[in-house]
Amino acid sequence: MKLTKRLAGIVFPPRCVVCRSPLPRDGMICPGCERYVNHPDPSRSRCAVCFLPQKECVCGKKLYYEKLAAPFIGSTPAKQSVYDMKFRQKLDLVKPLAHFMKLALDERDMTDGIDLITYIPMDRGRRFRKGFDHAEELAKELAKLTGRPCAALLERRQKVPPQHSLKKRILRSGNLLGVFEPVGKRLPDIAGKRILLVDDIATTGATFNEAAKTLMIFGAETVYCACALLNPKPKQKKNRRRGR
Ligand SMILES: [Zn+2]
Ligand SMILES: [Zn+2]
Repeated sequence: MKLTKRLAGIVFPPRCVVCRSPLPRDGMICPGCERYVNHPDPSRSRCAVCFLPQKECVCGKKLYYEKLAAPFIGSTPAKQSVYDMKFRQKLDLVKPLAHFMKLALDERDMTDGIDLITYIPMDRGRRFRKGFDHAEELAKELAKLTGRPCAALLERRQKVPPQHSLKKRILRSGNLLGVFEPVGKRLPDIAGKRILLVDDIATTGATFNEAAKTLMIFGAETVYCACALLNPKPKQKKNRRRGR
């Protein structure tokens, strides 16, 4: 091991991707947090697309992607790590999160069906202010782990409010209509390809679906999706009392 890497290991020991406690040696997750990684369970009835139990399925009616993989689901303690990467620029979390995304792709038999990796892009202004795009960082890391190329295939056509600022599903899907377009020079890369779309967090899958639709319109063969955290909104009960 290189001296600099060894020194870095002493000064900044690897930390668990979920609880952030120091790990004794090279590692991604502590034994106590292993249970938060979502493994598909073939013995239970699950949606064939998002792999969630049927009651929690996030897939809408008209889907443009084939499958969605996420290693962390719902209100897991891993949520904080994904938020820290997204909102607090903790880029050291990219590597372990991508590691578990790759595990999720493998466990759902998706890895072999990927020719090319891309990501859901931020709008240009936000990208410029932040200096990086965390979905792009995850996609690049996944490209290293899978040996597939990564390319920026999509861009945002107009400025719209961030999805996480909109509470209702209908606003989220309406907010996205026609929002993505292919990067002009990348058009030949899309046709006939099996593409993996990467994002950090998905809630209803609406962003993935709109981006997948754009790729399919421009000739992609199939689109798969992967995110670090799938955070479905709890289904609202009907006949709830209002005004409280
Ligand atoms: Zn832990
Ligand atoms: Zn589903």
